[in-house]
Amino acid sequence: MSATIAPAVVILLGPPGAGKGTQARMLEEDFGLVQLSTGDLLRAAVAQGTPAGLAAKAVMEAGGLVSDDIVLAILKDRMAEPDVAKGVVLDGFPRTQGQAEALDALLAEAGQRVTAAVSLEVDDAAMVDRIAGRYTCGTCGEGYHDSFKQPAVAGVCDKCGGTQFKRRADDKAETVKARLEAYHAQTAPLIAYYDGHGVLDRIDAMGTIPDIRAALARALGVSA
Ligand code: AMP
Repeated sequence: MSATIAPAVVILLGPPGAGKGTQARMLEEDFGLVQLSTGDLLRAAVAQGTPAGLAAKAVMEAGGLVSDDIVLAILKDRMAEPDVAKGVVLDGFPRTQGQAEALDALLAEAGQRVTAAVSLEVDDAAMVDRIAGRYTCGTCGEGYHDSFKQPAVAGVCDKCGGTQFKRRADDKAETVKARLEAYHAQTAPLIAYYDGHGVLDRIDAMGTIPDIRAALARALGVSA
């Protein structure tokens, strides 16, 4: 659309439910970045029954983190595709210090570095409700929520007109608790990692989707 932040590598950090996927899609629309979600890539691998998908399935269902080896192999394959040259927004990656260091090494090979890491700051207590009500269009992936964002016409996707919707198997309350624990134990330390690299921004992500979208654009130094 209007502004560009290229060639950028933007990382969205935050617990499950913070809005990483929603905001990554907004960054695609606003700035032409390519959303790269390791969760989506892993779910596709599970659906296709690839060896990586078979190995990841049980861990994902339990709300744990898939091994760095599997995630990095999937990420490297995706990063080798040509559309990535437009700039990427990484959603759900990196999730461990090992992944962050591997990403730095991968980018360094191409003479690049992380442009910005934005921490979406939320209250954990609100995340279970946010996650429990969410669902997506089965055709285009547009996100909806039982309380916060319903399609304008019930049962019809605003974006593509699709009528099939799906809910994630790991969005059940008990799995969400495990995912929040994994976030705090293994991923939250990356906030300090990127602060140390001088690329961290923190934004309040408890507001509305448009407010967070605007705050994110300001953090990235562009106006949407
Ligand atoms: P997400 O869609 O980002 O919420 O990810 C869903 C699930 O996929 C997570 O709970 C993990 O089991 C797995 N996953 C996604 N990204 C990663 C990653 N970078 N490292 C390890 N596991 C991941």
